[in-house]
Amino acid sequence: MSEKLNIVLFGPPGAGKGTQSAFLIDRYGLMHLSTGDLLRAEIHAETDLGKAARELMDAGELVADHIVIGMIRNKMEANLDAKGFIFDGFPRTRAQAEALDGMLNAKSEPITCMLALEVPEEELVKRLLGRGATSGRSDDQDEGVIRKRINEYEEKTAPLKEYYASQGKYKGIDGVGSIEDITSRLVEAIG
Ligand code: AMP
Repeated sequence: MSEKLNIVLFGPPGAGKGTQSAFLIDRYGLMHLSTGDLLRAEIHAETDLGKAARELMDAGELVADHIVIGMIRNKMEANLDAKGFIFDGFPRTRAQAEALDGMLNAKSEPITCMLALEVPEEELVKRLLGRGATSGRSDDQDEGVIRKRINEYEEKTAPLKEYYASQGKYKGIDGVGSIEDITSRLVEAIG
């Protein structure tokens, strides 16, 4: 059995994945892999990939599976000695989850668990509009785009809870409360 801790930090946009990742990385020495951050870096660098991704991101739609899978594969291959990974915003579709399992199982370093932050929709919208006022993220500034992202999550991403539950890896976490309380719940779930 692998010693590595590979965590899928899961939840709708605004659930607190980024905030909680920062703490878990520190505590467990994990490497953070956020496809949203990787895509925003491509946009910033004005690459062709970034230009194509931007339109989809601004519309609140998902970027193609092969693009995000390729980004994750490159990062994992460049960091073979990492103590483990925390996947943030990935996988978002069943095809992504299967590709991730394929990559990790080939190295006998499977996903340890999926920690799913649960937050009601109205609270998500409130949090994201608040974040949009300060973060500069254009996809956080328009309520229509926010709701589109939440819909994409419900339709394409939420079913992954079943995918991981069938492997005995799903752990639901109440994502409402103070940042510290939610962190404690995550640490307890990791065990
Ligand atoms: P995030 O920072 O995780 O909220 O992602 C911001 C946006 O990037 C999403 O609304 C999608 O357009 C795109 N994105 C990020 N991760 C993925 C992924 N795993 N699959 C498809 N699109 C993604």
